[in-house]
Amino acid sequence: MKKNPLPPTISGQCYCGAITIHASGRPEAIAYCHCADCRRVTGAPVAAFAEFAASAVTFTPDDGRHVSVNAGVTRSFCASCGSPIAGRYDYLPGKVYIGVGILDQADELAPRLHAHEAERLPWLHIDDDLERLEDSARSRLAPPSR
Ligand SMILES: [Zn+2]
Ligand SMILES: [Zn+2]
Repeated sequence: MKKNPLPPTISGQCYCGAITIHASGRPEAIAYCHCADCRRVTGAPVAAFAEFAASAVTFTPDDGRHVSVNAGVTRSFCASCGSPIAGRYDYLPGKVYIGVGILDQADELAPRLHAHEAERLPWLHIDDDLERLEDSARSRLAPPSR
């Protein structure tokens, strides 16, 4: 599969600008997620997330208000404008997931796989040749060898 080069540094901000994001490292993975949770969090028919090492990302002044609806999943939102800022999963320790849409270099952050393809909205058709996982990208994002 052809892979585009990733930008060396990545920045971002929420809708109102109260929270800014700086990543010193490149994303370790970028994926669409078609699950119903991600749709509800983003309000979009499909989400796209970049995975970073949590230690590589700085949120200023912080990563917002934490909300945990499902056990083991913490999502944070800007307290002022409500933008989704970050997602953290107990089963993917040391990683943080940030929506590609709030990153300034989104045009260079093309997803490389589809997760939860089984939950994709039936009217949404993305014409690419990326790998499609029927369920979570969990096994791909945290392979047992790591
Ligand atoms: Zn905001
Ligand atoms: Zn999802």
